[in-house]
Amino acid sequence: YTFIMCGIFGFVSKDKVKAVPIVLEGLKRLEYRGYDSSGLAVLTDSRIYSKKKSGRIMELEKVVSDDVMASIAIGHTRWATHGKPTNKNAHPHGDCTGKIYLVHNGIIENFKELKSKLEKRGHIFKSDTDTEVAAHLIEDFSKNYSFEEAVRLALKSIVGAYAFAIVNANNPTTMIVARNSSPLLVGFSESDKFVASDASAILPHTRKVVYLHDGEFAVLTPSDFRIATLDRKAVSRGQELIEWSQDEVGKNKFPHFMLKEIYEEPSAVENAIRGRLIVKDGIAKLGGLESVEGKIKRLNRMIISACGTAYLAGLTGEYMLEEYGGIPVEVEYASEFRYKKQKFDARTALLSISQSGETADTLGALKEAKRKGVLNLG
Ligand code: GLU
Repeated sequence: YTFIMCGIFGFVSKDKVKAVPIVLEGLKRLEYRGYDSSGLAVLTDSRIYSKKKSGRIMELEKVVSDDVMASIAIGHTRWATHGKPTNKNAHPHGDCTGKIYLVHNGIIENFKELKSKLEKRGHIFKSDTDTEVAAHLIEDFSKNYSFEEAVRLALKSIVGAYAFAIVNANNPTTMIVARNSSPLLVGFSESDKFVASDASAILPHTRKVVYLHDGEFAVLTPSDFRIATLDRKAVSRGQELIEWSQDEVGKNKFPHFMLKEIYEEPSAVENAIRGRLIVKDGIAKLGGLESVEGKIKRLNRMIISACGTAYLAGLTGEYMLEEYGGIPVEVEYASEFRYKKQKFDARTALLSISQSGETADTLGALKEAKRKGVLNLG
């Protein structure tokens, strides 16, 4: 799997609000990430209102009613990895009781094994997705444990990449979110908390955010926010302030993001080299490399790892680095590279390229190289 770029959006409010338009608006801000279906679940007085549709968010808009009042809701844009992009495979996915609903970004690698175990225990599945096992797992653990503990135990049995947002009609004031290898952040306004795959979705509401790290989950209620690791260690993390503007993340006046980015090339290059050129010496100084300058001088091999267009950029970089750096450079497709048995030594560096910074395989390859003690550049 190369790209997992779908989107999650949700909120927990102190007040009852018209939830549907807020979620739709948030999902639209995540559209640029690419998707094939969308859906939402809104928690109304211990019941769940959920709709999902394949196709554009417009299709979802046609079937939802705008006036559902609620203080907790989750939404999703899906990029199918397991199961066709159909209505039934769109998220949210629910458990057998229709009380637990969740949205998921990523891949549950051991879902087949979990699914057959759960089916033996009587759970009925409605979709072909990997995601649905998570809802049934939580349901199963909920028979003996609290919502929070059931989620924690479910997450502990899941192998794979995920960002989750989970609601439970039996706990109508709580949302639980979790992250492992897929991005997720929580934003804080005066009265509301927002969750999203990236900050662009919450900028209209707030600039104060907390990023979740891998292996953490968070419990959100109208009055409370708490992060813990899957081993139940409490995590305290301060809020960060997002500095960039909405214009920078929106399409601005362009009909689509690709065109916008093409027009941004001159300013993107300018921003990238600003303050880093030493014109009189004809060289560039990249501050981040200073601490590893000695290592870089001793390099005798460099591997560029990337996917898609970034891979193509890598192929161009290979020639430039060989010409000016005088060392052999190989370019590897990250999805292959991460599973390849490779020997590295202290004189090898890995250069990862990713536009989003989220490409799962590129991150996977980077983690693997890090584990092996290779010098990582990006
Ligand atoms: N693996 C899940 C699915 O196929 C989630 C995909 C996504 O990240 O959108 O439904």
